[in-house]
Amino acid sequence: MNGKESDPAISVNNLSKSYGSFLALRGIDLTVNRGEVFGFLGPNGAGKTTAIRCMLDLIRRDTGTVCVLGKDPQSDPVRVRELCGYLPGELRLDENISVHSILKYLRELRGGGKNCYIRARDLAERLDLNVRSKIKNLSKGNKQKVGIIAAFMHCPDLLLLDEPTSGLDPLIQQTVLEMVKESRRSGSTVFFSSHVLAEVQTVADRVAIIREGQVVESGETSSLLSGRAWRMKVVFAENTVLRTHEIEALSGITLDEVSSDGQELKLIIDGGMDELIKELAGYKVKSIETERPDLEEVFLSYYGEVSEMESIGKK
Ligand code: ATP
Repeated sequence: MNGKESDPAISVNNLSKSYGSFLALRGIDLTVNRGEVFGFLGPNGAGKTTAIRCMLDLIRRDTGTVCVLGKDPQSDPVRVRELCGYLPGELRLDENISVHSILKYLRELRGGGKNCYIRARDLAERLDLNVRSKIKNLSKGNKQKVGIIAAFMHCPDLLLLDEPTSGLDPLIQQTVLEMVKESRRSGSTVFFSSHVLAEVQTVADRVAIIREGQVVESGETSSLLSGRAWRMKVVFAENTVLRTHEIEALSGITLDEVSSDGQELKLIIDGGMDELIKELAGYKVKSIETERPDLEEVFLSYYGEVSEMESIGKK
C-alpha cells in the first residue's frame, strides 16, 4: 500500500489551471477513496483532461494542492507515475513498431516482470488485439486498446483513465468496463472520465460532474439518483372516465401527458406516491410502468440539452 491506507487515493483541493488568459480549472475539489471506481463526467471542454494531467503533473497546476496515493505529484512525479496506470485522452504511439514491441518497451520501463508480460498477453487476447500488428496499421479503436493494455498490465494501485471506452465497439466497451470492475475487486482505485452516462452509472461508486472548470455536483452515484423524480405510465381499462383534476391536485404529482382516448396517463412523481396509489385504486388499472431516473437526467439538469449539443458541436 502506498501512502497511508487511510489517505484518499486522490485528494484535490482548490485546483486551478489556466492556459494563457483562459481559466480551464476554477478551484476544483475532489476526493477519491481507495478501492472505489470514480466517474468524472462533463461535456467537451469542461476540464476533465486538464484535471487528470494535473494529477500526474503532466501539466503544472497554477494553484491548489494535489495528493495522489499520499504523494504530491509535483514533488514526487516519478513515483506517482510509477504507481499509476494512465490512459491519456489523446494517445500518441510510435507508429513504426509493433504492438508487442511497444508493450515490451513500456513493461521494461516500468520494471514489470513475467506476470506483467502474461497479463499484457491475456488482455490483448481479451480485447481481440493482434500484438504482431504495427501501430501504424491499427484502427483508432485498436490503438486505444494498446493504451488500455499499457495502463492495466502492471496492476497499478490507481488507474487514471481519460475516456477509456472512446472509439471502441460496444462489445469491447463492455470488456473494458469488466476490467474496471475486476481492478476494483483486486483492490485498485479507478478514476475515469467519460461522456457516456450509462457506463458511469453502471460501474462508478461515486461521480463528480464538472462544468466550465468547476465541480458542480459530486456524490455517490446512487444518492445522485435518489430524490429525483420518477416517471410513471398508467394504462386504464377501456371506457374509464378519469378525474384528471383530482390526480393533478395530488402534491408531488405532475400530469405530463394524457393520451387522446384519455385511457393512458404519463406522470412525473416527485413525492406523493402513497396518495397516488390510493387515488389509482379507485379505477380499473390495466398496467403501471415506472421508469427510474438516470444519470442523464441529473447531467442534463446541470447543462440542459441545448448547451450540451452546442459543446458537442464545438469539438
Ligand atoms: P473533452 O471531453 O472534449 O476531452 P475536457 O473536459 O477533457 O474535454 P480539457 O481538454 O481539459 O476538457 O479542456 C478544458 C478547456 O481548456 C477547453 O476549453 C480547452 O479548449 C482548453 N484547453 C485545453 N488544453 C489547452 C491548451 N493546451 N491550450 C489552450 N487551451 C487549452
